[in-house]
Amino acid sequence: MSRVALVTGGTRGIGAAISMALRNAGYRVAANYAGNDEKARAFHDVTGIPVFKWDVSDYVACGEGVAKVEAELGGVEVLVNNAGITRDAMFHKMTAQQWHEVINTNLTGLFNMTHHVWGGMRDRSFGRIVNISSINGQKGQMGQVNYSAAKAGDLGFTKALAQEGAAKNITVNAVCPGYIGTEMVLAVPEKVLNERIIPQIPVGRLGEPEEVARCVAFLVSDDAGFITGSTLSANGGQFFV
Ligand code: NDP
Repeated sequence: MSRVALVTGGTRGIGAAISMALRNAGYRVAANYAGNDEKARAFHDVTGIPVFKWDVSDYVACGEGVAKVEAELGGVEVLVNNAGITRDAMFHKMTAQQWHEVINTNLTGLFNMTHHVWGGMRDRSFGRIVNISSINGQKGQMGQVNYSAAKAGDLGFTKALAQEGAAKNITVNAVCPGYIGTEMVLAVPEKVLNERIIPQIPVGRLGEPEEVARCVAFLVSDDAGFITGSTLSANGGQFFV
């Protein structure tokens, strides 16, 4: 029987590419999303992948969402914490709301989701968790103190939880994408993209969502059983750790 994989924010952008890559690798995939019903419906119509709506920043909703997925598909064996948002502002202009929204979704969301699948993974003595962090969590980014803090937190979460999961055959890893051509990045003004962002990327282009998805597909595979607590950077040579 093929494994069950749950991808948060799995209906568009990088998450959609991850959902597709895992489906194509033989997993039974569930894709979560927050509120964009139209995109989610279109994704489901094209791929046939079941979609489930809840907010990863809401602990109770995550529990109910995971229960629905497990009732439909079976116990979640692979969790990809991909859902994320930006609320950019220079720090002196950043509101408490911008701070909390990003921390609650991009960092607390990992706790909320993982906590609800962890017991099942421990009971089955198998699990694969991949957290989508960011180059901006590794190096920091002006205008993104909230986002950089959350994404750096994702890396600490990954390394600590990997140590707890190891004895139960649960791996926990992170992928740090650089700039990828999704709605999140294409929302940046074209002039800024062409004159400031792309020139910083040694390969000279934005990454593609599928290039991140292939990293995830590897990390959740049986071939990656000895890799845990690791960070895989996919950033076109922009930053090395
Ligand atoms: P998009 O904005 O294209 O897609 C975001 C997805 O996350 C959507 O499916 C959205 O649902 C979902 N989502 C957002 N908030 C929530 C929430 N509270 N609960 C559930 N789902 C939610 O983002 P990207 O594909 O660009 O980014 C995906 C991940 O990769 C993010 O964590 C991002 O920080 C990270 N990343 C992206 C980079 C990039 O260059 N694009 C670079 C580095 C990291 P809905 O459609 O309903 O809104």
